[in-house]
Amino acid sequence: MEKDVFCGIVSGDIPTTRLFEDRDILAFPDINPQAPVHILIIPKKHFSTINDLGERDGELLGRMVLVARKLAKEHGVSFTGYRLVLNCGPQGGQVVPHVHLHLLGGRQLSGELG
Ligand code: 5GP
Repeated sequence: MEKDVFCGIVSGDIPTTRLFEDRDILAFPDINPQAPVHILIIPKKHFSTINDLGERDGELLGRMVLVARKLAKEHGVSFTGYRLVLNCGPQGGQVVPHVHLHLLGGRQLSGELG
C-alpha cells in the first residue's frame, strides 16, 4: 500500500490530537488551519482520492460526514455554520493523496467555490 503522511498519522508514527476515532475513521486538527475550526476527517484505510472509492464505500463516506457534523457541534459551529470540502486530484486542489474531508468553521467563509 502506498504510504502517505495521513497513513503515518493513522499508524501513530506522526503525532496528532485524535479528536475522533473508531475502527474505520480518524479526525484530527489540520496542521495549517484556514479557519478557527479546521479538522480533517479521514478513512483509516488508504484511498488516494475519492475516485478510488468503490460502491461499497458509500457508507464509509456517509459516516465521515456524520462524524464531521458531530465535531462541528462539539466545536460550537453547528448553528453559525460550517463547510465540508472534499478535494480530488491536482485541479481539485488535493495535495495529500489520502482521502480527507475538511471541516471548516468559526469565521465567515467566502462564497467562492474555486
Ligand atoms: P488538501 O489540499 O490535500 O485537500 O489538504 C491537505 C491538508 O492537510 C492541508 O490543509 C494541510 O494543511 C494538511 N496537512 C498536511 N500535512 C499534515 C500533517 O502532517 N498533519 C496535519 N494535521 N495536517 C496536515
